[in-house]
Amino acid sequence: MNEHGKSTSQLLSFDRAHVWHPYASMPAAVPLHLVESADGVYLNLAGGERVIDGMASWWSAVHGYNHPVLNWAIERQLKKMAHVMFGGLTHRPAIELADLLIQLTPAPLQKVFFADSGSVAVEVAIKMAFQYWASQGKPEKNRLVALRSAYHGDTFATMAVCDPVNGMHTLFNDVFPQHFFVPAPQSLFSEEYRKSDTRELEAILESHHRQIAAIILEPVVQGAGGMRFYSPEYLKAARALADRFGVLLIADEIATGFGRSGKLFACEHADIAPDILCLGKALTGGYMTLAATLCTDEVGRGISEGSAGVLMHGPTFMANPLACAVSLASVKLLLDSDWALSVARIEDGLRKGLAPCREAPEVEDVRVLGAIGVVEFRKPVAMEHFQNQCIARGLWVRPFGKLVYVMPPFIIGDGQLQQLTRTICEVALNPYG
Ligand SMILES: *Cc1c(COP(=O)(O)O)cnc(C)c1O
Repeated sequence: MNEHGKSTSQLLSFDRAHVWHPYASMPAAVPLHLVESADGVYLNLAGGERVIDGMASWWSAVHGYNHPVLNWAIERQLKKMAHVMFGGLTHRPAIELADLLIQLTPAPLQKVFFADSGSVAVEVAIKMAFQYWASQGKPEKNRLVALRSAYHGDTFATMAVCDPVNGMHTLFNDVFPQHFFVPAPQSLFSEEYRKSDTRELEAILESHHRQIAAIILEPVVQGAGGMRFYSPEYLKAARALADRFGVLLIADEIATGFGRSGKLFACEHADIAPDILCLGKALTGGYMTLAATLCTDEVGRGISEGSAGVLMHGPTFMANPLACAVSLASVKLLLDSDWALSVARIEDGLRKGLAPCREAPEVEDVRVLGAIGVVEFRKPVAMEHFQNQCIARGLWVRPFGKLVYVMPPFIIGDGQLQQLTRTICEVALNPYG
């Protein structure tokens, strides 16, 4: 029995019957695990298990759970106000956070839009690009170029730029605007760059740049669409092509932002600045939902000089003060920590610890970049079986198709990291149940 008088199994059966979960059926087909609390790198499950969160709640909980500094930031803001509308009003947490984000991101990015989730931040980025060109008297520039294996979110405009094969295109093809897709970069992160990687991008821009508003990509790390790490030289080449053909470059750093790839922002691997940048996930340290879309002075000015005169977007909970306050605390905490050293230490631990997985007969590839580790199998793993084997060994992961990937909180200790990698290597021997 818990404090509400319902047993764990009663709660779980209600949940399965009535509550949607990410990419789940109704009723839920796979078992759910009830989390009672979380602290540090651990999730405490109702069954009494204490498991290391290998996912950092999908890239976000970089400082771990129940962090006193982040708790305090929310408590302090709560005493002032939880929320006020952002239309015509403003507040200190939003202003200070915007100032910090402008300082940290590439210099040309000077304007900040606060969105309520990553997908909305990408929607806003796309809207900015279209509105910018419409304002320049070029409304026909309303198509995007996206990369195969990309993931940019679950809302309609963002789904339309996700990988057309493993994304949701087959289901919704008729409702999607038709964008251009180019192959994912083939030169991997540590490989020598092959110029042929941008051949199709160049060809599409050459023939269609008059219709194209922007190139949209995840810099260096393609996340949920395939967990691929590609050469920063590709990013440089894409930036140069965007300039040459007069299209904007949108960088979606929702997964990579705030140190995950080894640089504070993945664009830094290539030393390029996008025209529009999307941030999310680790922005709040995983405490609340908040995202941001930054753009250059030129994009901001262009939109505002157009016939509409304003950017056509403004959510009810825009720049929620609690979320801005905890983001500000989280980003400062990151900057005050030796995050680069932590990420390098995790990178080393993942490389060494996951290396033995290569010997497992069903493992196709093992790859690591920054605090991200990926084990790719030959066939889709049995998620429920894989998870249960991991939970029994004290680890939470959520495999996706053929991929088992981890991006632990940056505060993970060496012993905990060894437990994480050892567990994955053990379970990798029998991934299909
Ligand atoms: C998670 C993610 C999104 C979507 O963010 P949500 O907050 O889930 O809407 C968009 N782009 C990338 C690269 C992501 O990893």
